[in-house]
Amino acid sequence: MSEILKVISLTKHFKSSVGIVHAVDDISFSIEEGKTIGLVGESGSGKSTTGHMIAGIYPPTRGKIIFDGVDISVDANKRPLSVKKKIGMVFQDPSTSLNPRQTIEDIISLPLKVHMRITNYAEMRKTVRELLEKVQLPPDFMNRYPRDLGGGERQLVAIARALASEPTLIILDEPTSALDVSVQAKIITTLLKLQKEMGLTYIFITHDLSLMRNVADKVAIMYLGKIYEMADTQNFFEEPLHPYTMMLISSIPTLTDEEEKIKPRGIESLGEIPSAVNPPKGCRFHTRCPFAREECKTNEPKGEKIDGGRIVFCHFWREIKYKLTTNAPEKI
Ligand code: SF4
Repeated sequence: MSEILKVISLTKHFKSSVGIVHAVDDISFSIEEGKTIGLVGESGSGKSTTGHMIAGIYPPTRGKIIFDGVDISVDANKRPLSVKKKIGMVFQDPSTSLNPRQTIEDIISLPLKVHMRITNYAEMRKTVRELLEKVQLPPDFMNRYPRDLGGGERQLVAIARALASEPTLIILDEPTSALDVSVQAKIITTLLKLQKEMGLTYIFITHDLSLMRNVADKVAIMYLGKIYEMADTQNFFEEPLHPYTMMLISSIPTLTDEEEKIKPRGIESLGEIPSAVNPPKGCRFHTRCPFAREECKTNEPKGEKIDGGRIVFCHFWREIKYKLTTNAPEKI
């Protein structure tokens, strides 16, 4: 399986009235074709900013984005059209991402005109119909407006629009979090079906870690603009290594005895996420980490590669793991 996307030391800083916002700072990861990486974190973790840079909504401050062997770290307008159309995006809230004054046909046909150069009206309508079928919506929806549809249906239209340019990579930015629980499963099932049929690669951005268990092949945990742990999904849930990951997993309700058995214990969240303007020095998690020591306040942890391609950014993960699994006396 070949690597379709590689992100190297990607960084995004924004100027604001209160200072420089360190939205994303020096993150690296890659995705293989046809797979899903979950970017997970609380609000302000930088996960959406990462997705927006890859989609070309804004350029990185530093670092590289290599897509299909092409460096696309440049300003979005300078990306070749042949590359632009290969990256699709689905936003969180379909009620704001779809133009309310356009029919569903107009919405889906725009990328067909821009990226696929389809100008023949009959061909355009046929393609719109096929795209609606792909997301399991009836063809007569093409004459309706977004306001005529439910939230889940609108999100399916947004997915059909993203598919119109025949992308190979789709960035899904919290695609179910604005929807009722009752329709979330339908969206996820449709996305998984499309991935299987079309060999799509997904970047799935979410604050909902439990969703990743069934969706992602690999999970990266982000906190204040940094990735702190990345692992294959199974390892990630069965044996989290970073205290922040453990904290997040321990707060997920378990469904089976097996999940309950492996759930991390003894990790409690301390306080709120600090501001991304002047983030804490050293390990950015140290203000909330129950295991923080003096060194954590000044030295930034480097990523340590462990078996199976996983990586963890914590000075003391081995000692923490030992203590939590053996209930050993406090050394840390
Ligand atoms: Fe906690 Fe220190 Fe590890 Fe950061 S480096 S997660 S503060 S123990």
